Amino acid sequence: MACRPPPPATPPPEPAALPEALAWITGALERLREAGLERPRRVRAGRQGREVELDGRRLVNFGSNDYLGLAGDVRLTRAASRAACAEGFGAGASPLVSGHSAVHAALEGALARLLGTSDALLFPSGFAANAATIAALVGPDDLVASDERNHASIIDGCRLSRATVVVYPHRDVATLGRILAASPARRRLVVTDTLFSMDGSVAPLADLADACERHGAMLLADEAHATGIFGARGSGLVEATGTAAGVHVRVGTLSKALGAAGGFVAGHPRLVDWLRHAARGYVFSTAHPPAVAGAALEALAVVAAEPERRTGLLERAAGFRDRLRRGGLDLGAAEAQIVPVVVGGAEAALALAARLAAEGMFVPAIRPPSVAPGRCLVRASLAWHHDDADLDRLAAALLAAAGCGGRHP
Ligand code: PMP
Repeated sequence: MACRPPPPATPPPEPAALPEALAWITGALERLREAGLERPRRVRAGRQGREVELDGRRLVNFGSNDYLGLAGDVRLTRAASRAACAEGFGAGASPLVSGHSAVHAALEGALARLLGTSDALLFPSGFAANAATIAALVGPDDLVASDERNHASIIDGCRLSRATVVVYPHRDVATLGRILAASPARRRLVVTDTLFSMDGSVAPLADLADACERHGAMLLADEAHATGIFGARGSGLVEATGTAAGVHVRVGTLSKALGAAGGFVAGHPRLVDWLRHAARGYVFSTAHPPAVAGAALEALAVVAAEPERRTGLLERAAGFRDRLRRGGLDLGAAEAQIVPVVVGGAEAALALAARLAAEGMFVPAIRPPSVAPGRCLVRASLAWHHDDADLDRLAAALLAAAGCGGRHP
């Protein structure tokens, strides 16, 4: 497929003087800069894959959630074009009005089949899926218990719901049990990531499901980083751990391993019917473009046809983690394709990321608000397209930077 790059951006007009009412922003940005928390954007050129071009530099790409290498796969581009040809580009309206097209319906069906649920519902993003679903399940008379390392979209959903929110220590089911036992709330909801995005740790799904069953609580699991990666069919950690019967609300995203965009919730048809009526991020937002749904459908076909992408990735990731741990690096509870190396302060994380970039590898520094202050890290996202030599090079560089015995631990 011949692709032309987009035309260069026309520079915007010079800014006018900052209005007095916005003057506070100058100080707020200054404080971020002083704390080492400024977040400049890099401009990516062209398709990403094993390598990525950022601000004109080509680097080996350890900084993307494109775990299966599908974001730049031409099969998705072609599927998107076919869907756009058939249905036009924009969805034009929210799904309950006229935005829900044949390709959206096909994708919901394919997701429900993949997850083994009877129904599924698409959202414009994974963020919207979490935020809108939580707020549709609990309200001011209810309790929501949330793992302290959950994603921002879960945190915002909890706040939006106006339920009483109790945050429990990371993966601490005993504390969670006490919280549930002590709550007089009308309804109780437990929310957790399945694969934690900044830790690479995995939720104790079977124990969480047991606790919820014992206390009559609903369990919502966000599979954003596990969809497409775990389980015999690739549907996620709920499938891999055999906990489908105890996880009532299964959230996922199409924007990471599936290389497309959008979020979804899968579960019992009654649940999905309720969300269709009550999840405001679904009801009041334009359906995502049919082309995006077409690309996601194609990604699901690749996940089914090429299981070696996920099995190969998980195998190489296990070897990579072993090597770093044997070399003395502390990876916390990481046990998947997300490998965080915690360094402490923001400046230290930035310095390590800069050092890795100088060696030709993009491994982003992660700082607050994505992690707690003092827990800054560099986060290596491993993907199917990384070969042994890439992983050797990254492992050696991380061990050398930490003074852990250099190239051959
Ligand atoms: N949940 C988790 C755990 C995430 O990491 C993210 C994205 N960073 C989301 C949800 C939101 O998904 P999306 O990017 O599709 O909005």
